[in-house]
Amino acid sequence: QAKSRGKGKSEVFDRAMHDRASERLHLETGLRRAVEHGELYLAYQPIFRLADRTTVSFEALARWRHPVRGLLSPAVFIPVAEASGLILALGDWVLRECCKRMRLWLDEHPGAADMSIAANISAKQLMQGDLVARVARILDETGLDPRHLKLEVTESVLMENAELAVDILGRLRDLGIRLAVDDFGTGYSSLSYLRRFPVDALKIDRSFVSNMDVNPEKFEIVRAIVQLGRALNLDVCAEGVETEAELAGLVSLGCGLGQGYLYARPLPADEARAFIPPPGEECDPLGEEACTKF
Ligand code: C2E
Ligand code: MG
Ligand code: MG
Ligand code: MG
Repeated sequence: QAKSRGKGKSEVFDRAMHDRASERLHLETGLRRAVEHGELYLAYQPIFRLADRTTVSFEALARWRHPVRGLLSPAVFIPVAEASGLILALGDWVLRECCKRMRLWLDEHPGAADMSIAANISAKQLMQGDLVARVARILDETGLDPRHLKLEVTESVLMENAELAVDILGRLRDLGIRLAVDDFGTGYSSLSYLRRFPVDALKIDRSFVSNMDVNPEKFEIVRAIVQLGRALNLDVCAEGVETEAELAGLVSLGCGLGQGYLYARPLPADEARAFIPPPGEECDPLGEEACTKF
């Protein structure tokens, strides 16, 4: 009996493995054509200055409108793209879209003059993709001034191969683009590497921001990251700000930037565009009437 139970279990196991493998293969096949068929698009989430709630930049987040399965999250298809090598083509597409979008907004909207769009870069893109040359070519082809492009790399990817990351980030920075460490706090950075990564910003992982107002440990971790950012002269952006209480906590700690559902969800380009502030309305957080958004 034990034997047959064991066999049953392994059949269930094999079946599950098979399902996963065929799911992956299925997604991979679909993804290959998704770019050409226009099934992928980028959602843009505004990043805002906490002190006056003005938009300072956007993060581009990939979406796949699957013909059968509907809207798919990048958490589902980015790992498939990574494992299959498709990430290089997909990553190029993301970068080109970001650059084209930013060019368009700069042309249409004087208020965009100091803004940037951030693209996420995966492990394989950073380490195997000849990324610097690819980025340089895309900037050249789209005619975007590099200061309007930002790249986000997760802390864990940077630490996987820190020496190589120092080199690649340095060459990206030499192009004139800006860099951010994504999901900060989850990747065991050594402080000496953090100092050597030529980055402009830390993004505090959502897991620490979520409920930080009622969780003293999270609150203290966020405090420590904000202080670290100040010590290293980096911008600090809190991810996943969902409530006024979290926002108030972040402001009390002197965190500069945030993004999250409280301010705006990731939006189609048309809707995101409405978040570009009108020109010349640079808000003085200490002045009173200037801040119409409060
Ligand atoms: P990420 O770069 O850390 O992006 C932030 C994620 O948090 C996004 O999830 C965003 O929609 C979500 N988010 C923002 N504000 C809130 C909030 O207030 N509450 C909650 N619950 N979530 C919030 P999304 O769009 O599902 O993307 C997940 C991850 O997929 C990204 O994490 C990023 O690592 C990856 N990703 C997305 N687009 C791309 C891409 O074009 N290329 C690569 N390589 N990775 C991408
Ligand atoms: Mg990101
Ligand atoms: Mg993140
Ligand atoms: Mg994340």
